[in-house]
Amino acid sequence: MGVSPPSGRTEKPLAVRLLIAVALAAGGLSAGCSSTPGVDPRAGARPPCRWVPACTSNYEKTAGHVGGAAPAQREITQIVIHDIEGVAAGAIRWFQNPRSHVSAHYVIDYDGAITQMVADADVAWHAGNHDVNLHSIGIEHSGFADRNLWTDAEYRASAGLVRWLCKAYGIPMTRQGILGHAEVPDPEDPSKKGGRHHHTDPGRFFDWPRFMRLVTTPDEPSRRTP
Ligand SMILES: [Zn+2]
Repeated sequence: MGVSPPSGRTEKPLAVRLLIAVALAAGGLSAGCSSTPGVDPRAGARPPCRWVPACTSNYEKTAGHVGGAAPAQREITQIVIHDIEGVAAGAIRWFQNPRSHVSAHYVIDYDGAITQMVADADVAWHAGNHDVNLHSIGIEHSGFADRNLWTDAEYRASAGLVRWLCKAYGIPMTRQGILGHAEVPDPEDPSKKGGRHHHTDPGRFFDWPRFMRLVTTPDEPSRRTP
């Protein structure tokens, strides 16, 4: 004799309902990076990332750009590499804080997780130089300018994102197109670098040759033994 289901019960079991809730939540997150108009379709798929918007008082909407639907109104010619002097979660909170008046388009964690906070078409405030901000994408990384905590996962995720951005917007895959915050001119005295506040990130431990190799030749075998 079988156990008959409770009569009239159409509700799904709790486990199923939980799975659906988790799937919906995950879908909400992995809807992910903002849709970006004006992308060269030859760039292929954008690396996976989640979308956590910065507070709107911490960046500029591009003129005519509403909710990511209008074509990009700015030419993107450079990518600026930063470190947070901390970890991704701290930067994500800070860019959501209306008092910070700073932001970056992307934040990458030690484990390679990518969070987008400002749409590519909008102008994030990251370089301490407004002309550079107007034409660049800013990428923050977990880490410190004076400590070598860079991870393989972080280099690879960042290089994959940078490669996609270069293809998507026609940015040269060179050190002219991809620069460190420390190389951004001070807008008041271009003989000084690191933007208005003379930042030194990503610092001397950031392995530029390796990073540029990963950007240009994505198939480099996994980590060399130290
Ligand atoms: Zn910086």
